[in-house]
Amino acid sequence: MTTKEKRSESRRAAIYARISNDKQKGKEGEGLGVQRQLEDCRDLAQRLGLTVVAEFVDNDISAHSGRERPEYLAMLDEVKAGRIDVVVAWHTDRLHRLTRELEKYIEHCEPHNVETHTVKAGHVDLSTATGRMVAKILGSIAQQESEQKIERMKAAYRQRAKTGRAHIRTHRPFGWDDDGLTLRQEEAGAVEFMTRSIIKGESIASIARDLNGQGLRTSRGREWTVRSVREVAMRPRNAGLVQYDGQILDGVTGEWQAIVSESDFRTVLSILKDPKRRTNTDGTAIKHLLPGIAMCGKCGAPCKYAIVHHTKAGKPSQHVYRCSKSTCVVRDEKKLDNLVTRVALMLLLNQKMRKALAPRDGEGPDYLTERDRINEQLDELAAAYGRGTFTLSQVETASTALRERMQVLDGLIATQTRGDTLREMLSVPDLVQAWEQLPLSRKREVIRSLMTVQVMPIGKGNYRNVKFHQHIKITLVNDVLGDEDLTAAILAHRLTSDQERAVVRAFAA
Ligand SMILES: [Zn+2]
Repeated sequence: MTTKEKRSESRRAAIYARISNDKQKGKEGEGLGVQRQLEDCRDLAQRLGLTVVAEFVDNDISAHSGRERPEYLAMLDEVKAGRIDVVVAWHTDRLHRLTRELEKYIEHCEPHNVETHTVKAGHVDLSTATGRMVAKILGSIAQQESEQKIERMKAAYRQRAKTGRAHIRTHRPFGWDDDGLTLRQEEAGAVEFMTRSIIKGESIASIARDLNGQGLRTSRGREWTVRSVREVAMRPRNAGLVQYDGQILDGVTGEWQAIVSESDFRTVLSILKDPKRRTNTDGTAIKHLLPGIAMCGKCGAPCKYAIVHHTKAGKPSQHVYRCSKSTCVVRDEKKLDNLVTRVALMLLLNQKMRKALAPRDGEGPDYLTERDRINEQLDELAAAYGRGTFTLSQVETASTALRERMQVLDGLIATQTRGDTLREMLSVPDLVQAWEQLPLSRKREVIRSLMTVQVMPIGKGNYRNVKFHQHIKITLVNDVLGDEDLTAAILAHRLTSDQERAVVRAFAA
């Protein structure tokens, strides 16, 4: 019997599969990962004409952490005992992610001429220096890349074909029929309303109240709460996007009819995920203009709204903003509201400011198209990876850059849509009236995007001699202007137009 014949007839293979414990992934996904690895490895073994004599699976144990992998060690024992000719793994990073592990592995395999084949990186020839180097490089890439990222990408590729379908788990998705595909017009209208209202800056609580007021109920027949509005508004399926394992699958479109545009949906996500929003507007309706916007000029803490009750009988209570941390500063609410509003509106009227805020060349950059293009490129990468043109590590390197750009784009898309609310204010004929009709939360957004407000302490005995605005420090957010004198000019009432005079009259401090 020649060596070749002997090898082809009786090469015994051991399959090794492993998936690390990733807290952010569900149990279901984990099991699936190992199952897929095993299936792919069995296929490979068959293609290579190997006889699988053993399968070793380490689940939920990260090789990276350096903890023991009992099945891996059992496999090495088999290798050492000469009972295995070929090790089949999904990728080299399944076998060893640490260089010292790789060295030990080579040590065991070499004396018995044990070969290593992987589904993704092909034959890893550890008998040559080059092969060992390749294995080391692959290993070090695996070490660097977060496993979560890799798994997410793989899951996305694999599930792509399957998850384009409606995925109904426990109950009917609000907005669609039981099949999850057909729109229920009234409910779809409500989803659109939620999305629009959130972008406009309405509070979630007020949206819930509106929906309940219209007699609408959730798909489980319950009244709307802040929680359920948030949940429904943040569903990717609203925009026809598919979510798998907590991740939106880029480039996958659901079979169902979308209710809102992708850019609107992404804007809603960015608004609702904004940590600033969580403290200011989530849950309760906003009642005051400047809490959290006006900052204490002494200690830097945000100012809060408060009522100061006077002990002297007959003296009315005073509504104020005060330092939320200490007793640094206290200022009259109405006066500060008026001053800040006046400055905001004067800025919106200012020619220089208008130029800076105005969209350039029509609608501005088309980030959404660029985002689509990146999705296509990722698809192409995935296809190249599927054909074996690129290795996994090459695909990972390329896709990491693309995904990073995509994240930037998501932010830009959100800013663009939100900036639109500010630009809307530039085109209204009567600014004072338009302002008064804005919801409080949207006024806050406009102010926030224009300036920072610091309430400065007033020295003792100074109260009678100073003007209110002299101890409010307003700084323009928009450094496009590079004009620090602008607010000073505005505060000094250097007026040029009727509109400006109207603003001053309406919001005299
Ligand atoms: Zn303070």
